[in-house]
Amino acid sequence: MSRRRLYRLSVTSQTHTLFVAHETSVILSAFQQQKEVRLKSSPADLVTETDQQVEKMLISAIRRKYPQHRFIGEESVAAGEAVELTDSPTWIIDPIDGTVNFVHRFPFVAVSIAFTVNKQTEFGIVYSCVEDKLFHAQRGRGAYLNGKPLCSDIHRCVVVTEIGAESRSITCCVLLCYSVRALGTAAVDMCQVATGGADAYYHIGMHCWDIAASTIIVLEAGGVVMDTDGSEFDMMSRKVIAASSSAVANGIAQVVQAFPCRRDNEAASKRKCDTQSERAVAQPTACVLHEL
Ligand SMILES: [Mg+2]
Repeated sequence: MSRRRLYRLSVTSQTHTLFVAHETSVILSAFQQQKEVRLKSSPADLVTETDQQVEKMLISAIRRKYPQHRFIGEESVAAGEAVELTDSPTWIIDPIDGTVNFVHRFPFVAVSIAFTVNKQTEFGIVYSCVEDKLFHAQRGRGAYLNGKPLCSDIHRCVVVTEIGAESRSITCCVLLCYSVRALGTAAVDMCQVATGGADAYYHIGMHCWDIAASTIIVLEAGGVVMDTDGSEFDMMSRKVIAASSSAVANGIAQVVQAFPCRRDNEAASKRKCDTQSERAVAQPTACVLHEL
């Protein structure tokens, strides 16, 4: 086994231990508590001090071990850091994917961590805290749920998507597929595709930290990931289809009605203008709709 491979296995193993032992307990202990909530881009885009605390804990712990590595963290970006995915080893972190769920105690809340080198994802970890489900995948080595291999094999289409901060893409598949679900966390939504619980996930408007880890989990489980226009997946484009097969993914790509969406790695000032204009046309709600 090459030194490069050993290095990445070591990083993966340490990351499992890292957040299962510490950051998860912070999230779970806060889950039932009253939270102080602040709005970010819209009433459906929330942040709590737990989001910020967990991200700081993760970054400081990883930085102690790997001081040269770079980071793209949701809350760091919200605080003004640029989104720059370079060839350097980079950790892409969403400390709590599903903050609206977290605030409402809706039990789908995940930590999402991806590790990239040369802009390619080497491994991804999604931990659904309340469910106690640990999804992970390493490039070329398969995807796993709580240590058991995942293999997607579903023939009837259950589709997961989101109807929160950005809802304009929801209608296109509702009438076409067998059923639609929305769990409130893109990371866990995509992991449902990896498990075979859902056939497909699609969304426009999520961010790279929402899906970076779950993308490799879907791919290593045997699924397909592409842009919503059917082209090659681009982590910064904020558009994704993840599906159990190319046929399902292409079928969704044919009916998704795309709309303008600023890339994650555009300048922060430009993103801010865009967010303000999106806020003006969106019709967000602060309520969590229990559709299941
Ligand atoms: Mg988050």
